[in-house]
Amino acid sequence: MERRRRITDLTREEIATFVATHGGKPFHAAQIARWVFGRGVTDPAGMTDLGRALRDALTQSFDVTPPAVTWNCDEASTTEKALLKLSDSGGDNVEAVLIMEGERTTACISSQAGCPVACVFCASGALGLKRNLTRGEILDQFLAVRSRAESHGRRVSNIVVMGMGEPLLNYEAVLSALDTIHDPEGGGIGARHITISTVGVAKGMQRLLEEGRPFTLAFSLHAPNDALRAELVPFKAAMSIDAMVAAARAWLKDTGREATFEYVMLAGVNAEQEHARELVRRLKGVRGTVNLIPYNENPGFTWRRPSPAAVDMFAEILRAGGLKVSVRKRKGHRILAACGQLRLQALNPGRV
Ligand code: SAH
Repeated sequence: MERRRRITDLTREEIATFVATHGGKPFHAAQIARWVFGRGVTDPAGMTDLGRALRDALTQSFDVTPPAVTWNCDEASTTEKALLKLSDSGGDNVEAVLIMEGERTTACISSQAGCPVACVFCASGALGLKRNLTRGEILDQFLAVRSRAESHGRRVSNIVVMGMGEPLLNYEAVLSALDTIHDPEGGGIGARHITISTVGVAKGMQRLLEEGRPFTLAFSLHAPNDALRAELVPFKAAMSIDAMVAAARAWLKDTGREATFEYVMLAGVNAEQEHARELVRRLKGVRGTVNLIPYNENPGFTWRRPSPAAVDMFAEILRAGGLKVSVRKRKGHRILAACGQLRLQALNPGRV
């Protein structure tokens, strides 16, 4: 069965076309876009300044009901995780996360249902790719997290595309959604506060460089050499480390933004002192920050998080080698906030 288009799937231009074909004026299109993306009102019944005819036309033509969302909250932490039900799902969900720390309020959103990359330590890849999310399904996550943040008296300040899926394999939908999140009359989030995290996919990266949006890039590196990286990120189309470094340089030149290199630390695998020293040699002279992410242990997997002392030592070696380093704080582990863990649990309760 063909899925009905969601109202959030429509771009501003498509809303304008729809309005014109239904006898409305351009300002009606602007009103609708503001209701949907600016205020998160997707049901035309709530669009109080819009005429009856256009409201009815929208309701008849599109799926206007917000997705069912289940929130998982950890009282002690500042992380809340949403499972959004997909309309064609047969029970499948996508994950989005609200992270509140200090002044910063971050929405972490997914780009695909499942993931084809299958990083060996990651729950999202465990069941493969189900399908790409549509632009609307990506925006639905943003709207759900934003409204949740508002209920805590907070405004979303940052967006990271670090949920399930590989964003550069769903380029069109992801970039279209991010453009709306960036649009001052939509999400109004500044480009420097929008981060795309990727294992590096040459075709998508090329396009991103050509089209030149000033978003922030995060490369999932996870290893100081290509052989170890291929074991951890067993995806044929993933770029080599040299290609990622070249892309980071080109991005800095084009946008003035330094990239981040994400490094999930797995005890006994990629988190030894020798790996830190190799990483220093590999990234020497590259401008950017290495973000160390001590592994969030996943009950169904055998990978282990290194000790805090091992993490500190690793970070120290990188700093002494002249690299900029940040270490991700432990967040939301009690609600299984690492990539894909909740969905996997929902699909497969015996395993996780
Ligand atoms: N496919 C993209 C976007 C997903 S980002 C990418 O790989 O960059 C998801 C981030 O969370 C990646 O850096 C990934 O390596 C990390 N991650 C996944 N599972 C994790 C876990 N259990 N603990 C810590 N980080 C994890």
